Amino acid sequence: MKLPELLAPAGNLEKLKIAVHYGADAVYLSGKRYGLRSYAGNFTLSEMEEGIRFAREHQVKVYVAVNIIAHNDDLVDLPDYLSSLSDLRVDGLIISDPGIVSKARQIVPHLPLHLSTQLSTSNWCSAQFWQQQGISRINLSRELSCHDIALIKQRVPVEIEIFIHGAMCISYSGRCLLSNYLTNRDPNKGECSHPCRWQYALMEEKRPNEYFPITEDEYGSYVFNSKDLCLIEYIPEIVASGIDALKIEGRMKGIHYVAGVTRVYRHALDCYGENPEKYQFQTKWLEELKKLSHRDYTTGFYLGSPSSESFNYTTSEYIRTHEFVGVVREILPLPGERSSSNSEKLIKIQVRNKVIQGEQVEFINKNLNSYHTRLDEITNEAGEMVQVAQPGQEIVIRTNLPIGANDILRREKI
Ligand code: SF4
Repeated sequence: MKLPELLAPAGNLEKLKIAVHYGADAVYLSGKRYGLRSYAGNFTLSEMEEGIRFAREHQVKVYVAVNIIAHNDDLVDLPDYLSSLSDLRVDGLIISDPGIVSKARQIVPHLPLHLSTQLSTSNWCSAQFWQQQGISRINLSRELSCHDIALIKQRVPVEIEIFIHGAMCISYSGRCLLSNYLTNRDPNKGECSHPCRWQYALMEEKRPNEYFPITEDEYGSYVFNSKDLCLIEYIPEIVASGIDALKIEGRMKGIHYVAGVTRVYRHALDCYGENPEKYQFQTKWLEELKKLSHRDYTTGFYLGSPSSESFNYTTSEYIRTHEFVGVVREILPLPGERSSSNSEKLIKIQVRNKVIQGEQVEFINKNLNSYHTRLDEITNEAGEMVQVAQPGQEIVIRTNLPIGANDILRREKI
């Protein structure tokens, strides 16, 4: 049975390596120009080269987003950029502008072209049109049910990709000018400031600073505030419909999120692939996804039109039950005099959020295991005791837990 490709976001080189380590079949990223998510960090060409080399070593594909809605000025440097991507031997381009599709077909005709969700492909006739324009894969509109998706897949010989997890846009992906008008940040260039999620009130012009509430209820008026998509409970249906690729949203999210989401979907897909008859959804997968920063979960349009349950009416804040503390960089040998026959070792951790000696923490790894421990003794690399470690600092702890490089360290929020 062919499992769909699991496609993870790579906002920068570190996130790419984490996505690969945690089980992605492919990653998507963008350069400093031409890709949405302007604030994701993104890649210089030399970082892209390193990322592609690393991904190749692990048999993982790399797709590059060139998916802005291009203006005339954007076309000037485009041919050189496309040629550079071709030289780097990327596995495909993610495009949404028909002009860029046409340029890519002229300049880099050998590169597979994937249509971005920005084009909101919502019916088989549109899918057929794009397939005839040389598109090899379509990331369908998020606003489709499982029946619509299956019908498109049946009728059009093109690879179909859907979003499986992550934030939802309340308009058809980015076709909204709220952010342009209110903050001068263009969603179609990846700069959305999410004003759809702000809390609004009404002010009469002759009564400045007197706000009349326009509440849904006493908590506020988050009228456009969608929950986040999560389809972890529908893996069998998704695989059965023949979808070719499952995309995790979130190039701007941190490595705790990238690792946490990728490992859960990897595990669920592999469980299904090993034995579809015996496959059972495990509640711990959803519990794990709830430990990552999110805004409550919904199935979006997948089961039909979303109900009022798909929106948050009380807050637009992220739910954060756990806090990212750091990432394991290296396993170090024990110094000679401290060697022992048990499995004790030293692990070097790069700290991302302040951590204090004596704190309870949890290590998570790509196999969906987690290990709880107390940081009784923290030292620096020179072996000196550290009471409080700050972001960016590298610390060393001694442990006999089966911890490896790239494991993520986190703690429960109190
Ligand atoms: S403001 Fe909201 S609806 Fe508009 S593009 Fe941004 S996320 Fe989408």
